[in-house]
Amino acid sequence: MTDAFNYDAWTSALERGELLGGRCQSCETTFGTPVMVCPDCSHRGLAPTPLAETGTVHTVTRIEVPPTGFEGPFFVGIVELEDARLTARIEADDGEPEIGDSVTFAGGLSAAPDGRVAPLFRLD
Ligand SMILES: [Zn+2]
Repeated sequence: MTDAFNYDAWTSALERGELLGGRCQSCETTFGTPVMVCPDCSHRGLAPTPLAETGTVHTVTRIEVPPTGFEGPFFVGIVELEDARLTARIEADDGEPEIGDSVTFAGGLSAAPDGRVAPLFRLD
């Protein structure tokens, strides 16, 4: 794939249930969310690349008072994948997600009133 890796490409992939990252075509660092310029080497040109869909919870926080239009409480955190990190909604069937828990990508979550999509991970 040589298409540009931008926000629209990222959210379109999430809507299809795909988790894309961007790989710098100069230093080959991979990022879990869209960036226009590589933060590591300043190269302009990140190509979309499929990310690993399993990882661990790097950090997590409970949103007790949700923003307008959202239902809470819910959990957001940083998920550490083999090749990248990204911020995501994290759901657990029972209890609360904790740092170090294993998670699996579960598609795009459209929870915002404006229809924006966010990555969703569930505890294994
Ligand atoms: Zn780079």
